[in-house]
Amino acid sequence: MGALEQVETGKQGLIISRNPATGEVLGEVREMDAPEVRAAVERARGAQKVWATRSVKERACSLRRFRAVLVKHSEELCSLIAKESGKTRAEALTMELVTTCDLITYFCKRAPEVLKPHSISLHLLKNRSSYIHYVPRGIVGVISPWNFPFAIPIGETVMALIAGNGVVLKPSEVTPMVALKAKQLYDESGMPPELFQVVTGRGSTGAALVDAGIDYCNFTGSTATGRKIGAACGERLIPCMLELGGKAPAIVCADADVDRTARALVWGGFANQGQVCASVERVYVHSAIYDELCEKIIAETSKLRQGDPCSDGVDAGSMTWEHQVEIVEARIKNAVDAGAQLRSGGKRYGQGLGFEPTVLTDCRSDMEVMKKEIFGPVLPLMKVADEEEAIALANDSNLGLMAYVFTDDRKKGQRIAERIEAGMVMINDCLIVYGAPETPWQGIKQSGIGRTHSDDGLRDLCQSRHVNYDRIALKRELWWYPYSDALYRQTSTLLKWIFR
Ligand code: NAD
Repeated sequence: MGALEQVETGKQGLIISRNPATGEVLGEVREMDAPEVRAAVERARGAQKVWATRSVKERACSLRRFRAVLVKHSEELCSLIAKESGKTRAEALTMELVTTCDLITYFCKRAPEVLKPHSISLHLLKNRSSYIHYVPRGIVGVISPWNFPFAIPIGETVMALIAGNGVVLKPSEVTPMVALKAKQLYDESGMPPELFQVVTGRGSTGAALVDAGIDYCNFTGSTATGRKIGAACGERLIPCMLELGGKAPAIVCADADVDRTARALVWGGFANQGQVCASVERVYVHSAIYDELCEKIIAETSKLRQGDPCSDGVDAGSMTWEHQVEIVEARIKNAVDAGAQLRSGGKRYGQGLGFEPTVLTDCRSDMEVMKKEIFGPVLPLMKVADEEEAIALANDSNLGLMAYVFTDDRKKGQRIAERIEAGMVMINDCLIVYGAPETPWQGIKQSGIGRTHSDDGLRDLCQSRHVNYDRIALKRELWWYPYSDALYRQTSTLLKWIFR
């Protein structure tokens, strides 16, 4: 299967979706043009005006019905996610469906409190008072990638809806069928059908969405596309959230529990075939335990059961996109040519896009595999003299999404975590914080702008508006006209008295 073949354009303007593990055709979708995208935004806008008048609790009540429909159709949904993305059914269930249902539950409960107006007490202007209230932004354009074809677009959509917005979603051209299935289940749940629209197509359809009069852009994808979308939003003065690429480092201290760390890194590097923005992408191991950890990781990797993602008892499914497999092959070749040791995996298996979980040892910091995003099942390991060297190398990157620290000393772990230039750091585990919707999911450097999940992420989906009013109405205020020498003298005295 060639790179473009998998998302080939069939008849005029049709994109064909295939199962990456087998090549089976799953369906075809239309490549929508700019007028169609604009019409979808307008339809959503009509419904949003009504939706915004409903209380947050009423919106939550409706979204719980959507969750119930998702649960009712969970088997069907998991099968489709596994078929279209190549991840195992276990991953489809835990990483996509459970996380999304939990996110719906969490925000339905939490949103009324988070979006409630709150007052600000004024320390100087004692006769006045302020409060902040939250107004939905309007129409949120959600543009999403292929690695989590359900959890990312639907999680972002649900957050936007509960905040009172309408949503137009442009799913990845690699995995459009999952988004269309989610839309069908959404419609079945009795939610206002026009409020949430799905527009299918490639990058040009995404670009058309940014240009279609949306009020906020929620983008998850590569840094290269994020840069274009940020520029397009800047041009139109639309606020945006950009969740972009990662190159998560893992620092393994000399005192780390070697068995547990090996198991954690194997999972953190290979889950979802390494196609997670927060996958462990480079491991810096203290020289005192380097050899032992490498052997344990190789042993744990050899236990992984590869095969058809839709069969039971498979740990490692298929990669999703031919183009990504080619990137992974190039990264491995480049590393081996530069002197890295290929200790496990390194090649395709099966008829489709299966790729063996791959362990590279003896990596050096100047290798491409330690610098550029891999986004595939490759775990490159490098020996470091001490934690200081590991921190310096971890920070020597243009990306800063996630990082990991492994140590038996929690305080030391926190000290190291706070020195790492990443939006999120986990100590002694990997990835799972995406499933904690109360915490912010966020990148710094070129890994993104803004955040999703968390109270702040929900509020970002609203305009925060400030109202200031008089608590005590005076006949006139000190600072009004006419200005006088007396006013100047009094203010000058106050300045010296208050700020001395
Ligand atoms: P991508 O940037 O190629 O595509 C993402 C989406 O953007 C797709 O729907 C695509 O059609 C659309 N698009 C492409 N060009 C566009 C344009 N000019 N205007 C508007 N839309 C456009 O990314 P991908 O290959 O689908 O996903 C993989 C990348 O996503 C990796 O870099 C990964 O790290 C990143 N990612 C980040 C997070 C995060 O939370 N930070 C999560 C998942 C994936």
